[in-house]
This record gives sequence, C-alpha cells and structure tokens, in this order.
Amino acid sequence: MRDPRFDVMFEQVKIGPKVARNRFFQVPQCSGMGYRDPSAHAEMRAVKAEGGWAVVCTEQAEIHHSSEITPFIEQRIWDNIDLPALELTTSRVHEHGALAAIELCYNGMNGPNFFSRVAPMGPIHLPVASFNYDPVQARSMTLSDIADLRRWHRRAVRRSVDVGFDIIYVYAGHALGGIHHFLSPRYNQRTDAYGGSPENRMRLLRELIEDALDEAGGRAAIGCRISVTELGVADGLTREDISDMVGSMAELPDLWDFVMGSWADDSITSRFGPEGHEEKYVRGLKQLTSKPVVGVGRFTSPETMLRMVKEGLLDFIGAARPSIADPFLPSKISEGRMDEIRECIGCNICVSGDFTMSPIRCTQNPSMGEEWRRGWHPERMRHRHADERVLVVGAGPAGLEAAMSTGRRGYEVVLVEATRNLGGRVATEARLPGLGAWIRVVDYRLGQIERLANVDVYRESEMTADQVLAYGFHHVAIATGARWRADGAGRWHTRGIPLSADLPIFTPDDILEGRRPEGGRVVLFDDDHYYMGGVIAELLVGVGCSVTLVTPSPTVSAWTVNTLELDRVQHRVRSLGVDLRLSQTLLRTEGRTAIIACRHTGAESSIDADALVLVTARLPREDLALALRNRSQEWADAGLHSVTVVGDALAPSTIAAAVWDGRRYAEDLGVRRDGDDTPFRREVVLIGHDAAPPQQSEVSRGG
Ligand code: ADP
Ligand code: SF4
Repeated sequence: MRDPRFDVMFEQVKIGPKVARNRFFQVPQCSGMGYRDPSAHAEMRAVKAEGGWAVVCTEQAEIHHSSEITPFIEQRIWDNIDLPALELTTSRVHEHGALAAIELCYNGMNGPNFFSRVAPMGPIHLPVASFNYDPVQARSMTLSDIADLRRWHRRAVRRSVDVGFDIIYVYAGHALGGIHHFLSPRYNQRTDAYGGSPENRMRLLRELIEDALDEAGGRAAIGCRISVTELGVADGLTREDISDMVGSMAELPDLWDFVMGSWADDSITSRFGPEGHEEKYVRGLKQLTSKPVVGVGRFTSPETMLRMVKEGLLDFIGAARPSIADPFLPSKISEGRMDEIRECIGCNICVSGDFTMSPIRCTQNPSMGEEWRRGWHPERMRHRHADERVLVVGAGPAGLEAAMSTGRRGYEVVLVEATRNLGGRVATEARLPGLGAWIRVVDYRLGQIERLANVDVYRESEMTADQVLAYGFHHVAIATGARWRADGAGRWHTRGIPLSADLPIFTPDDILEGRRPEGGRVVLFDDDHYYMGGVIAELLVGVGCSVTLVTPSPTVSAWTVNTLELDRVQHRVRSLGVDLRLSQTLLRTEGRTAIIACRHTGAESSIDADALVLVTARLPREDLALALRNRSQEWADAGLHSVTVVGDALAPSTIAAAVWDGRRYAEDLGVRRDGDDTPFRREVVLIGHDAAPPQQSEVSRGG
C-alpha cells in the first residue's frame, strides 16, 4: 500500500528517554481554546494522535501568573488547579499511542498581565511587546527575579512530568517570551552575567534547560525551541549568531525545534511565502548536533517531507497547520492514501481563532475545534438517518462540502451548479495574486466526491423552484452564494451612496470574472477590511493601473491582523506604489471624480478617476430560497421535507465559514433540534467562591 520510499518516515526516532513512533511531529500550536475549553482542547489533540502523529504538543503553557497574555487564551500551568485539564490532554493523546508534549512559556515582556495585574518582567525596562500597544512597561529582572523564574520553570517541569507529558519544551522562539528576549541583543542590553556576550545572553536558556533535565530526571525528554534568525530586525539575532549558540549547546537538550523570526514569519501565509520557506535558514543546523531536529514549513507535500529527511535537514516533519488541515496526514501517507490528504491552503484562518479568542477553525477541515463540542471527526461521519435524496444547489465551498459530507453519510446526493465551473468563489479567488493555493479547497472536495458513487454532479444547470419541486428530492441545500454590492453600502454607509453614471463601477465579482477598468486611474474603496481590497489593488497595479485605495480603517486589510498578515499587506501595497488614503471614506462620485472625506474631521477632498472599485459588502443570492419558501404549501406533494440555506447564501462570510456551514448541514440532516438549545457542548468555570484567599507570605514580591 505504501510506497517503500516513504518507509523512512515511519522509522522510530529516539528523543532522550522517549521513542517517537514515526517522524511526524505536531509542534506547539495555538488553538484559542487553552485553559478555557479543556475537553475541547484534549479531544482536538487526541484526534491528531489518532491520525498517526508521533508527537502531539499543546500550545504555549504559561508557567506563572506573572507571565500571562490575557486576552489570548493559552494553556496555563500556574499551579495545581491547572493540572486536571492538562492531564486530560496527556491521557487522551496516550490512548492513541502518541507522545504528549507541552511548551512551557515564560511570556515576560510579551504579556501586559492584564489578568494578574503584576508588572511584567524582561531583560531590561521596556514597553511590552504585545499586539495591542498596551500602555504597560516590563521591568528589568533582578538576579533574584531570575532565580525565581528558574524555580517557577522547574516547578512547571515537575508538574508537566507528573501529569504525563513525555516531552517538555523550553521555549526560546518567535520573540514570544522572556527566554528569546534574553538571547537577543535587540532586547537584552544587560551588563551583568546575563547580558552582553553571546555566552551571557545564553546563560538563562542554558540554565533552564539544565534545570529541566535535572527536574525531569529521565522521566521526560527536554526540547529546546529557538528562532534561527530575527530576519534583519534592528540589533536582532542573525542566523550566524544562532549557529554559534546552537553549536555551543548542541548536545544539551534532547531535541531541537527550529523556528523562524516572529510567529508571523514562521506561520507565513501562502500569499507571502511558499511551502518550505524556512529551508535555507534551517539547513546546516542539524549537522551541529547528534540530537533529533524538528522544523516546520507548512509542509503538505509528502515528497517535500521526504526530501527534508533524506537531505539531512530534519529528523522530524514538524507541522502545526498541516496537522490542523489534516489530522490524519501521517496515516494517509502510511497507507499510501496520498490523494486523500486535505492540504493546508496557508490562509491562517486557524490563527484567527487564537487572535479572536475563539475556538480554532480551519478552512479545509471544518471539524477542527468541533471534535468534542459537536462530536465531529475529520474522517468519519454517522450513517444516513434514512434512505433519502438530497439536492445541493451551488458548487461553491458550502455546496461542495455539503455534497461531499452528505455523500459520506450515505445519502443519494445530486450537486447542481449553474456555471461550467465548480468551486464558486474559490475557483475565481484562487486566481487572484498570491491565492493560488486556495484552490485546494475545491480540489480536495471534488477528488472525494468523485469517489462517492452516490453523489452525482451536474454543471451548467441553473435550478429554478419549479425544477426543485419537480425532481422529488427529500432535502434541498441552497448554497447559491452571494454577490458583491455595487452601491457602496457596507460598514460605513449602511445605505447606497450617490454614484455618477460617468464613472464605471467594478465590484470584486466583475474583477473575478475578468473585467478590467479602462484607463489607468482607479479609486478602490475598501470597506470590507479582509484580503479582497488589498489583493485587488495588487492585481490592478499588476495590469498597469494606478490605484488609490480609500478605506475608513487606519490600515489596509485591517482584519488580516488576525491572520498574521497585516504587516506584509502594508509592505506589499506600499511597495507597489498604491496611493493610500487611510481613515478616509468615499462620500460620492461626481462625473469622473470621487469625493472622499476624513472619517474623523469630515474634511473633503477629491480624486479624479477612470474607474471605481467598490469592495464593501455582499448580498446573498437568495432568489431560489425565497421562491421555494413562498411555495412551502407545495412541498408535501413534492415529497420535500426540508429546504436549508447554507454558506454565503445565508450570510456572506469567510470561505472557512461556508465550508463549516456545509458540514453542519450534513451533520444535522435528520437531527431534530430545538432552536432554544445550545447545539454544542461547552465548559463553564469551576466556581471557586469558597477557595481560601492567598496567604500574604505566599505572595512573591512581583505580586
Ligand atoms: P459559498 O461560499 O456559500 O459556497 P459561492 O458563491 O462560492 O458560495 O458559490 C455559490 C455557487 O452557486 C456558485 O458557483 C453559483 O454559480 C452557484 N449557483 C447560484 N445560483 C444557482 C442556481 N440557481 N442553480 C445552480 N447553481 C447556482
Ligand atoms: Fe491551513 Fe488555513 Fe486550515 Fe490554517 S485554516 S490549517 S492555514 S487551511
């Protein structure tokens, strides 16, 4: 079944006192669930263990209350009340034969400590390096603070071992946290034994690894996660610095995990970086140590993974996103089912879960984050509730997922699409600059649908209500999508605005369908704030237009802060020469002139243009749904039990939301739900009203 070339990927690898069953390693990965959703978190990790990963790691686990990054929701291992949640994860991961790992983290000056309210600590006095420009400064750690930190770290190691973790990370990567900051001359300007020379800057990391090894006492392996470069930031660590540092501690930890720069550099989206983009920085480091090495690179191609091992770059294929998109990736490679791999598209919607403090979600894998909450599984679905026929109208992401998933449940399914092309918005958006990998959303689903004998697909079949009622289906899913508005209504203007007939108007649909402005001067009004405005500006510059981007937001594509793309988007549009009119809104057009105004003062200015592109809001294509609803008295005679609107046809949102809704449709078919009840499980906090207040003597100086 398996191509023998891949046998090497399924060799056991020793990590200190532990043995990994293969080379697939789910590296630390945020989930937005952390301490708040322990059962959901444990089950999400368990499914990955079930899918064949040899190692399954938590997200970062804060080791102490002086190191917390509220409002973000990560793991906590502050004290014993955090342990049952962590133990749930280790036991569920172990049940499926994987090693459980934990990433201990001392956030230091990354966290404003809004929950604990104690002053954050770092190598020197500096404003915190959090995501929100928080008005908080970290204080410089004294030698006794460093001794405290070592003790807290030891205690976290002991607790981690006690609850069954097999691998414990000392985390010095991503510029997230104190240990990285101590390594980097950018942050560490100390003049004592912990600052100055590389040896001094490494001292804390070395001590923490030594402490951890001592504390674990062979009961767990100790890994070190380190950024291999700070990618040219002022005074930052260079790749050469890291070679020296890793070289001098080469044999100390049981495992090396190499990451790059900041989290945004490491988890770069497919729009800004290809698969394996870290290769040139990681190459050569494995040769410095005899200890196993793990690294990432949004690996989705088994051939690339194999090459990483064969060429001696890595011992373990590290994955966060590929393991989110396909928790069964190792099993599929092991069983030679390569064509069933659900490849990550590199969109970072998964990251947005963490940034919005909501349970993780994934464009490709709608079951991600729903394993415990709703009982969804990435590979399995319940058998159909009855021998019934399902019609899915529209082959966009929602319709494709609904057809595939109802097909998997065993219903007889017909998917009809009005146009020649399957894929809806994804098929066209994937042709936009940098979004090519997104077509995998379509490819994966079409590939699966082709294998399902009970799913038929018809193109160029625009469905009317008459046809739906005539064809004798029991259930109809309306996944007809949405169209962009051409009237300027959106967030800023909740009604359409005055637009002159002399200035040609384009929506993203027009651009996606291949229409292009004539004449060079384009005003693009972006009141959508995700990728579309920025990407269309990029496309139009590419075809020779000069683009003025007007947006009420102070940044372009503001929501991309949640996908770690915000800085790169600004860099891209600015370096392309897009004229940015930030915090401005489009008021109206007069003749061939756009009148814009400052959102704060109302001061108006005008821009002469040859075309106007409006990226504001969408309206569902709901004609068919409304027509069927109006004829509900005919349903019984037609044998029709249900008509359900899914995806963008219900309420336009992300592709991830459309896919998820298609899955939800399939999962809920035949389920009677009372709309008053919450349709998923959740956990509420332990009521600690009677817990004793902390004793004064137990409160450290820091708080
Ligand atoms: P979503 O993101 O919700 O899946 P899309 O806009 O990507 O929505 O896809 C909707 C698809 O539905 C498009 O491919 C569109 O051509 C198709 N469609 C719209 N109306 C009909 C109809 N009446 N019959 C068949 N297909 C339709
Ligand atoms: Fe990949 Fe996007 Fe899924 Fe994240 S959300 S794992 S980037 S497909």
